[in-house]
Amino acid sequence: MTEVSTTPFARPDGRAIDELRSIRFETGIAPHALGSVLVSFGDTRVICAASIDERVPGWMRAQKVEGGWMTAEYSMLPYSTLDRKQRDISRGKADGRTIEIQRLIGRSLRAVFDLKKLTGKTIWIDCDVLQADGGTRTASITGAYVAAQIAIQKLIAAEKLAENPFTDSVAAVSVGVYQDVPVLDLNYPEDKDATVDANIVMTGSGKYVEVQSSGEEATFGREELDKLLELGAKGITEINALQEAAIAAGLAS
Ligand code: UDP
Repeated sequence: MTEVSTTPFARPDGRAIDELRSIRFETGIAPHALGSVLVSFGDTRVICAASIDERVPGWMRAQKVEGGWMTAEYSMLPYSTLDRKQRDISRGKADGRTIEIQRLIGRSLRAVFDLKKLTGKTIWIDCDVLQADGGTRTASITGAYVAAQIAIQKLIAAEKLAENPFTDSVAAVSVGVYQDVPVLDLNYPEDKDATVDANIVMTGSGKYVEVQSSGEEATFGREELDKLLELGAKGITEINALQEAAIAAGLAS
């Protein structure tokens, strides 16, 4: 007789398979930045700040490229991880993961932004992970959009920018296959055991900016990928609404 498991599938924190962690935005966390937010996806917490530099990078000046620039930096604070993570500056260089993540954040924001409308300015987006519990890159993108949008709207209100360069909103969420089940928004215990790990970056109008999906010592089928994309789209729609509320609250305070 074959033994059939009677244990129902359960996520470590008891969520439904299509349920996001509790997502919160605390705007104005870094008052010297024009736009800032502490974004939390459950126990993952990232400070995202947008600062304006009234000039463009040297390569843009040299090549006489019109408009402005927007770029991002990402780092994990030493105490954000279970074991202390050495600062990049003490190691002498950023690791490959950091570089990959900060490029992803910059690309994600630039996909929904008309750089030509940011004449002569650079927006620096700094994402610093305060607490890491899975999905720090997706939380960073989600918070970076909120911080940048607040900064842009403040520039317009101060008559330092004529019109809003954002063409759409952008948010990101992780999805993955955990214990053979596709789930939304993985926390660290899920992330570490997931056989498929994916990050979905999408605009408010439902277009993809980036889909990163990898098998971790495993493969996956088209059906699973479709399910993951469906879960991601559901999550992004919910996150969009929270982002809009956070931007409104950030501008009102
Ligand atoms: N992590 C860690 N130290 C590291 C890198 C990752 O503790 O140097 C943990 C952290 O909780 C992170 C998770 O592993 O959120 C998953 O890391 P991954 O590289 O997949 O990026 P993320 O899911 O944070 O975007």
